[in-house]
Amino acid sequence: MTRPSAPSPRRRLEPQTGTAFLLDQGQRLRVIDPLGEQVSDLVAFAREDRREWLSSGRSIDYANTIYLTTGHVLYSNRSRPMFTIVADDVGRHDFLLTPCSPETFAILYQHEGDHPSCFGNLCAGLSAFWIEPDAIPTTFNIFMNVDISPTGELRIGPPRSRAGDAIELRAEMDLIVGLTACSAEMSNNYKFKPIEYEVLPPAVG
Ligand SMILES: [Zn+2]
Repeated sequence: MTRPSAPSPRRRLEPQTGTAFLLDQGQRLRVIDPLGEQVSDLVAFAREDRREWLSSGRSIDYANTIYLTTGHVLYSNRSRPMFTIVADDVGRHDFLLTPCSPETFAILYQHEGDHPSCFGNLCAGLSAFWIEPDAIPTTFNIFMNVDISPTGELRIGPPRSRAGDAIELRAEMDLIVGLTACSAEMSNNYKFKPIEYEVLPPAVG
């Protein structure tokens, strides 16, 4: 009989920050929006070979929808399952757009000077695992609310997440994970809030 290990304490990402950590196959990552209307960018790499990464294209292709939710699998560029979404309070996340970067703010919003960004925060966190900035792919943008008009135009709306809403993803292989509390004004209804997360042990049975 196996005794499940206790869940990790809930961790908090302060507004406009990020982190990176290891997640073992079978463990579940629970990402919580404690205050509501806050996006969290997620990315992952295979621990056994960092050239295997979370693939927006493969995942959307196999799910045949751009709106991934409970029951959907997030695939790697090698078409192997990296995560399965096992619970989802919100049902609206984005997998089309890249993590916000200093260039995002310059090109889209004519912002001058430094601006905190998911890309910068992911680069900083993932550098501890020898992952280079150029290796960071399109992120799974948890709670990000992107609509497509009939003409193909994208519309970014406030996240549908309310205080305490969460998504839970089971790791299907040993992973290196990057996670942020997003820094983009429009994506977060113009207010930067924290993100919380916890790592849960494998389900028993
Ligand atoms: Zn962002």
